[in-house]
Amino acid sequence: MIVNLNPLLKEARDHHYAVGAFNVYNYETIHSVIEAIKESNTSAIISFGEKYLSNMELKEVVNLIRTMTTELDQKVGIHLDHCKSFDVIKKAIDAGFTSVMIDGSHLPFEENVAITKEVVDYAHQFNVTVEAELGSLSLGSHSNEDDAEEIYTDPMKAREFVLQTNVDCLAVSIGTVHGLYKGEPQVSVERLIEIKDQIDIPFVLHGGSGTPLKTIQECIINGIAKINVNTEISSSIVKAISETVSKKPDTHFSVLSNQAKEAGKKTIVKYMEMFNSVKQ
Ligand SMILES: [Zn+2]
Repeated sequence: MIVNLNPLLKEARDHHYAVGAFNVYNYETIHSVIEAIKESNTSAIISFGEKYLSNMELKEVVNLIRTMTTELDQKVGIHLDHCKSFDVIKKAIDAGFTSVMIDGSHLPFEENVAITKEVVDYAHQFNVTVEAELGSLSLGSHSNEDDAEEIYTDPMKAREFVLQTNVDCLAVSIGTVHGLYKGEPQVSVERLIEIKDQIDIPFVLHGGSGTPLKTIQECIINGIAKINVNTEISSSIVKAISETVSKKPDTHFSVLSNQAKEAGKKTIVKYMEMFNSVKQ
């Protein structure tokens, strides 16, 4: 069942888990998420970033997911991840995405408020939910996100931001990184609690890959309802297929495609378990 973020985040908060938002780039990775949903009997968000538009078109993403989930009882969101362009957001909504992230985190506060509010007003007309970001994450290894200075989310500004924009959920910067951690993860749950004390909407944690289980669980207790995973889906697939190719360079692509699906699924199931979203 295809839904927007509202029922997914509400259910996650009510039952003390986080819904995983798993990045996809092609048929194999979409298949990985859907098989993980079936195996774990949980809801999930299939997330497609603006930067992967050279891999797939927006309509291809939606049509493939819709075709592959017709028999699925679990709730699935089709989410546009990290998008800086209002024009691309409009196209994603036209194509059938059920939620979008407007990333104005690189802009001055007032400009981030202005573009986010514009997107919220537009998207809500179509029952599409909106995520925004305040503060910014630094870049770890193996990521292809943009490099940025690490700026923790300011709790008072978060309150002002949410009240002014009416955004549905907010990505916060509390020490996770885009990509894999280069050293010991330093995640500030204290900062998350300070933000939650100011404004109580569902929060989103970017940079799930490699974040310790204990930190993830503390984040969930304190308001994180959606956790993004990208890098480790990619790196686990690349590892699996490169091992095969190094042993047998003439491996048929159809074999590698199936290995990619399986490796991606295993990583996603692992994170669903860490997010406590797996149902019995
Ligand atoms: Zn992100």
